[in-house]
Amino acid sequence: MRSSISSCNGATLIHGARCAIGPQENIYASIKIAHGRIMHILHDRALSPSTGEYTEINLSGFLVMPGLVNAHDHLQFALHPRLANPPYRNYIDWGEDIHARFPDLFAKYRSIPRDVRLWWGGIRNLLCGVTTVCHHDTLWPELQREDFPTKVIQKYGWGHSLALGGDLHAAYSATPADSAFIIHACEGLDEQMREELFELDRLNLLNENTVLVHGLAIDSAGFSLLQAQRASLIVCPSSNKFLFDKLPDMDVLGTLENIALGNDSPLTATGDLLDEIRFAIVSCGIAPRTAYHMVTEAPAKILRLSNDEGEICASGAADLIAIQDTGQHAADRLRTLSITDIELVIVAGRVQLASEAIWKRLPSQSRDGLNPLSIDGTLRWLRAPVNELLQRAEEILGPGQVRLGGRQLCSPPHCGDAA
Ligand SMILES: [Zn+2]
Ligand SMILES: [Zn+2]
Repeated sequence: MRSSISSCNGATLIHGARCAIGPQENIYASIKIAHGRIMHILHDRALSPSTGEYTEINLSGFLVMPGLVNAHDHLQFALHPRLANPPYRNYIDWGEDIHARFPDLFAKYRSIPRDVRLWWGGIRNLLCGVTTVCHHDTLWPELQREDFPTKVIQKYGWGHSLALGGDLHAAYSATPADSAFIIHACEGLDEQMREELFELDRLNLLNENTVLVHGLAIDSAGFSLLQAQRASLIVCPSSNKFLFDKLPDMDVLGTLENIALGNDSPLTATGDLLDEIRFAIVSCGIAPRTAYHMVTEAPAKILRLSNDEGEICASGAADLIAIQDTGQHAADRLRTLSITDIELVIVAGRVQLASEAIWKRLPSQSRDGLNPLSIDGTLRWLRAPVNELLQRAEEILGPGQVRLGGRQLCSPPHCGDAA
C-alpha cells in the first residue's frame, strides 16, 4: 500500500525503551530505523557503541507501541462540533435533520478551506497516536501530500451508503485490485437498516473486499451472510450510542474474524480513537486485548495495508508511538490511555509529534520543523504549520474558538491572548 508520507531516509536508533511486540508481550530492545522502515530490532545488550551513524533517541522509561490504525474517519469534519438531536431511526434521518437544523453552522464550517480542515483531521489523529487513517470520502490531493501529518490510505474504493452513495456499481468497479471497498451499512435501528446488508448482497456488492462501517442493525441472519461472504466490519460504537442510543452487539459481532474499531468524525464520535477505545472497553465490554487487535493488526489486514502496519517487526513500517512505561502491557494500558499520554509519534521513520519531555531528548535534526500547539492546555510539538492552520480556522470561527474534537486549541506563546 502506498502511503502519503514518503519515508525519511535519515537512519535513527531508538534505545532504552520496552517495546510492545504484541498486546501482552514486551521486550527491552533497540530499534534501528532507516528508509521509513524498521531495519533491526536488537536486544539492548547487543547494542554496539555509538558510531555517529545513527540519530539516537533515548527512550528509557518509555513503552514503545505500534502506531495505531484508525479504520474510519471523515477528515474534513475534524473541527465540527458533535451535532444531533437524537435518537434517530437511521443515518438518513440524522443527515436530513442536522442539515435542516444547523444550515448556518454547516455553511460557516464549509467556509474554512477544505485543505485546512483536512490537515486538522490529520492532526486530530496524530495527537492520539494514529499513524495510518482510513479516510471515507474522496482522496483529495491534500491527502496525497508526503508531508501530511499521518499516513492516509491511498488505495481504496468507496461509496457513502446505499441511500446516499450514488452509483455503487460504478464505485465498486472502480475499486483498485487488492484494495477495500468501504461503505456505511445498517447504520440505524429500523427494518430498512436491517435490510441494507441483504440489499448489498443482491447488488453483488457484498464480497471479500467489502468493508462495512457501523453494522448496528445486523441481525443473526445478516451476521451469517457477512461471515459467508467473508466481508469485514468496522464498528464505531460511540457514534452509534450518540445517534441511536444503541451499541453494536459485540457478543455476536465480536466473533467475526475481520472486525476493526473506527473513530468516526467529531460530528458523532466521542473524542479521538483513544477515547473510542476506552468507550468500547467500558460500554461494549470489549476485552483490552481484543481492542488492541482492533486498532492495530485487524484494520491493517482489513484495509489491505502491506507494510506490517499495526505491529513492530523487522522490515515493517517504522510507525511507532511512545508512552510512559508503567510496567503494564500495551493492551492493559488501553483501559486508561488518552491524548495526554501520547508523547512521541514516529510515522515512516520521521518524528511527527513529541511531548515537551521527549522534545528535550530529541537531536536537533529531529526537532527541525516541529511546531508547538496547546491542546486543552497540553503542549505538543507537531510537524505541521500549526500557526497558519490555526489562524486560517480562527479567521472564520473567531480567536480562541477553534476546537478539535471538542478540545480547545491555541498556539504558544499566544495562548491566553484571546481570553
Ligand atoms: Zn464513513
Ligand atoms: Zn460514519
